[in-house]
Amino acid sequence: MNKYLTNYHSHCSFCDGRAPMEEFIIQAIKMGFTSYGISSHAPLPFHRLWAMEKNEVSAYLSEFNFLKEKYSHQIDLFVGMEIDYLDAESNPANTYYQSLPLDYRIGSVHLLHGLNGEIVDIDGDRKGFKENLKISLGGELKPVVKAYFDKMMQMIDAGGFDFIGHCDKIFYNALYVCPDMLEKEWYNRLMADFFDFIAERGSMIELNTKAFDETGFFFPNAKYLSMIRDRKIPVLVNSDAHYPDRIHSGLSSGYEALLLCGIREVVQRRGTSWQLVPLVCS
Ligand SMILES: [Zn+2]
Ligand SMILES: [Zn+2]
Repeated sequence: MNKYLTNYHSHCSFCDGRAPMEEFIIQAIKMGFTSYGISSHAPLPFHRLWAMEKNEVSAYLSEFNFLKEKYSHQIDLFVGMEIDYLDAESNPANTYYQSLPLDYRIGSVHLLHGLNGEIVDIDGDRKGFKENLKISLGGELKPVVKAYFDKMMQMIDAGGFDFIGHCDKIFYNALYVCPDMLEKEWYNRLMADFFDFIAERGSMIELNTKAFDETGFFFPNAKYLSMIRDRKIPVLVNSDAHYPDRIHSGLSSGYEALLLCGIREVVQRRGTSWQLVPLVCS
């Protein structure tokens, strides 16, 4: 299916990944990955259990450099971070994140501002999302979904990232509140405008396969792959791994879905640049 097995979205015990960095790398070598990127959640201006703290960053980078050297004959390793777009001050383009010696940066939105300015996690479990929607976000789903994509577009305008992480992830929790949202005209128009915006800005996105085996959903949803194809938006296929035994989770289904839709190339890292690599039909 794909000549080179790769993944550039992987967590580890420096954030909410469930094993040390080395276990992900050993597993990647075992499974025949040709290149692999570690991308822990970057430090936020406040404490979150799932993100790295600022004082852990130098240990994160030195551990990576040690492992990159140790396994240099077996696999190409890259270090990145998944950086949240919070607001105009705290985002991937911010000087602090830009000054870190990373190979690449993923730009993601996991947090929105509540009605009283509080930070609300919209990426947690579905029941928690429904609760937060009621308690902190005004109770109406549509404005919250729009606020998520507005934040995404602010992030894309600000730049400072290599590719966008799970660009429509809010839809999964939103479906718990409104099961037919993907059939709504307003949502499909929003998606078309969103992918227009991405294409105009020349950003790359990932097809995030983390939840596919459990839920049957990719991020972005497979329904919108044709929009991505028509706009020629470059795509990486990543598993957003949190467990070493799930680093390949959903990847081959992701490649298949792309091919089925007529997307025949994916982006992979070669040395210091991202390159389009043909997907090979099996
Ligand atoms: Zn994420
Ligand atoms: Zn992630």
